[in-house]
Amino acid sequence: MTAVEQEKTGLGNYFIANYPPFSFWKPAHVAAARDVLNAPPTPGTPLGLYLHIPFCRKRCKFCYFRVYTDKNAKDIETYLGALTKEVELLAATPVVGGRPLDYVYFGGGTPSYLSAAQLDSLMTRLKQIMPWDQAREVTFECEPGTLQRHKLETLRAQGVTRLSLGVENFKAEILQYNGRAHLEEEIDRAYGWAREIGFPQINIDLIAGMVGEDWDNWKRCVERTIGLAPDCVTIYQMELPYNTVFSKELTVIGNDEPSLGVADWPTKRAWTKYAFAELEKAGYTVSSATTVVKDASKTKFVYREALWRGADMFGAGVASFGHVNGVHLQNLDTWETYTEALAKGELPLGRAFPTVERDRLVREVVLLLKTGKLDVGYFRAKYGVDIRDTFREAFAKLEADGWLTVGAESVDCTRDGLIQIDRHLPAFFDPQYVNARYT
Ligand code: SF4
Repeated sequence: MTAVEQEKTGLGNYFIANYPPFSFWKPAHVAAARDVLNAPPTPGTPLGLYLHIPFCRKRCKFCYFRVYTDKNAKDIETYLGALTKEVELLAATPVVGGRPLDYVYFGGGTPSYLSAAQLDSLMTRLKQIMPWDQAREVTFECEPGTLQRHKLETLRAQGVTRLSLGVENFKAEILQYNGRAHLEEEIDRAYGWAREIGFPQINIDLIAGMVGEDWDNWKRCVERTIGLAPDCVTIYQMELPYNTVFSKELTVIGNDEPSLGVADWPTKRAWTKYAFAELEKAGYTVSSATTVVKDASKTKFVYREALWRGADMFGAGVASFGHVNGVHLQNLDTWETYTEALAKGELPLGRAFPTVERDRLVREVVLLLKTGKLDVGYFRAKYGVDIRDTFREAFAKLEADGWLTVGAESVDCTRDGLIQIDRHLPAFFDPQYVNARYT
């Protein structure tokens, strides 16, 4: 691939969410997964729970997640019953070892697609099985158009601490063209209720490079976001994964072409860099390649921090991902197989990957680089290595290219390096995982 081709938004996933790559996770390793669930936990490891709610009002054209837009109330009841059963089975495994939940994450899909009554009853059941009163964070993803004041009050009463609003863009035409179900006015209304109800942390998601985006509108989106003053802003750069509506219908164009298309990577990076700079002027601090926070001393993202540092997390729900006692897990990824396994009282494990210590070291280096900083002492204490020696070649190359600097006690990404860090992460992969299919 030439340098010019590389900068176009080509088909396929760009962002690195885990290591080793998902394509190496296999059904043959499920037995190893069952073994770790039946073993005691590693002392001092926090435990989290991710719950996948796979329903959406309609499918966004860029979406590649396992979501359903055609399920009726009875189907939803079946799914929530299966999900609850799964949490019951997980809670009974020896690996829990009496640990309370440290963090909980309701993701999707659109968790806020569920009614207030469905959420109230689901959360009440789940908390009886695995209480989250001691959790440092309970995150809940919302699509603004699905919210009512009453639903938000229910979430707050059930202990949700971090509300994440999928705003993505403020312009009606762009939202509509990209297949988003919500309207511009629903953003302000939902945000206003969430603030009044007093959620400790509100995050707004934006996407740089939605189809139809341009500089003027992007500047307005950043201004509107700053005007709302959320505690945290997450900015994704638009990808074009396979198996999306867009991947089938779009041509990929450069920034100089005026028609609808996906901007190239340099343009999306410029938009992200602009947003970060404006948010910094407004008092925010950059806390990762995708996030800024208003008050870095108060606003933590426990889910991300814990996961990136190798904490345990059960992933409940169809196709959900987890990581327990050093083994990566993924659930069965179709509605039928997932619900049938649970109807039989079995954990719905689909594929797994047992990591070795070297994999876990690389995984943490790769994921923590997304925070823009690696603490040399942290890795020395945890893995007994000096990462500057272990990854000497990769660091030297990225430093020479201006993407990071290697110091006595830390490795620090430059701003340009941080904004495009995902494309440099394969430099840290072991040879068998380089150039392999990622998903
Ligand atoms: S709301 Fe999220 S999960 Fe649902 S279709 Fe859109 S991108 Fe996918």
